[in-house]
Amino acid sequence: MNPLESLASEAARLDAADPLTPLRGRFHHPDPLTPGGDHIIYLTGNSLGLQPRSARRALEERMVQWDSMAVRAWHDADWMDIEASLAELMAPIVGANPAEVAVGGSLTANIHHLMATFYRPADGRTKILMEADAFPSDQYAVASQVDWHGLVPSAEVVMVEGDDDAVLEAIEIHRESLALVLLAGINYYTGRVFDMGRISAAARSAGATVGLDLAHAAGNVPLRLHDWNVDFAAWCGYKYLNGGPGAPAAFFVHEQHHGTEAPRLAGWWGHDPASRFLMPDAFSPAPGAAGWQISTPSVLALAPLEASLSLFREVGFERLVARSRRLTAFLDRAIQEALGTRVRVLTPPERGAQLSLKVEGGRTTFERLSAAGVVCDWREPDVIRAAPVPMYNSFGEMVEFCERLGASLPDS
Ligand SMILES: *Cc1c(COP(=O)(O)O)cnc(C)c1O
Repeated sequence: MNPLESLASEAARLDAADPLTPLRGRFHHPDPLTPGGDHIIYLTGNSLGLQPRSARRALEERMVQWDSMAVRAWHDADWMDIEASLAELMAPIVGANPAEVAVGGSLTANIHHLMATFYRPADGRTKILMEADAFPSDQYAVASQVDWHGLVPSAEVVMVEGDDDAVLEAIEIHRESLALVLLAGINYYTGRVFDMGRISAAARSAGATVGLDLAHAAGNVPLRLHDWNVDFAAWCGYKYLNGGPGAPAAFFVHEQHHGTEAPRLAGWWGHDPASRFLMPDAFSPAPGAAGWQISTPSVLALAPLEASLSLFREVGFERLVARSRRLTAFLDRAIQEALGTRVRVLTPPERGAQLSLKVEGGRTTFERLSAAGVVCDWREPDVIRAAPVPMYNSFGEMVEFCERLGASLPDS
């Protein structure tokens, strides 16, 4: 039997045996490229998660509340409590107490807001450590913050290339001058997961604060933000959390900073709800991470996210993680068995759902693969990123992916 045939029969057995396989039917899947064409293999849940079928109804309900109750719905429906109930759903996914999580805003803006509190360059502690190949938005945010404080980014931003050890070594080297360590939990390019607990402990013992951008980690890998003593974290709602394009984001502020006197950028939605509508002149923060909220929540935009988070709770995040590990390991093995040396997996074993693949034929291979109905993502110069999502991708699709990728490689 050729490797693809035996992998296909193994995948069929795995799909039949896994109690989570039917979850796939709880999502809308994109249409084939041509009517009646091959089904789309969607491996881009790390960029935009698929739509849960329950999202439309959830949004429709909010629309009906708006048309039938208008402003009364803030009190007569549950609008005033939406953020708190979403924080409840979100907290177990990131390993936090509900009071440490707030839902709203957008990822890069939230990073800026939180840096206002947690990046306070002073007394020779001015530097920010981040990964050399961090997501561009994070690089722009960090450089502009340094600049805004009247400092020079090229002097203050320490870019670290490499793995956990490289980060730990850089923390040691800059021990005296480090103000903040700001890392992605998972590097978006390689898919490598950092040892966030160890890095956080080292950064704090050096006297720096620690922030995490969890865009690629939230809803993907297990996180223990509270136990790791991370100072703050932020993530978006539209990648693995399936909240919809540009969905509201979320952030974490560790309990030990609640009630802090440290400066923050305030808005009325961060004001203590007990007196928010008395419109007092002086700002008095809400207890917990909610005290860093700024503006009125987007009730409509939160609806699909709420539907999605309810599905996470229904299934249980640990079960999803267990399935994710098996699914990604199967894809890794299938690639090696079916495609050998023509495709190389760059992602190390410390990983979540994403594999970054170095492919022969570069961009042409990617274009052929896309034309064959595989939705994945391309990064210059020769890397394809594929993210099998345990909620809606199947073992069978991993084999089909290898088949279509094999057929897209240059003729050898
Ligand atoms: C996706 C992603 C972003 C996107 O930020 P937005 O403010 O939501 O546009 C930022 N940083 C990282 C690491 C990401 O993966």
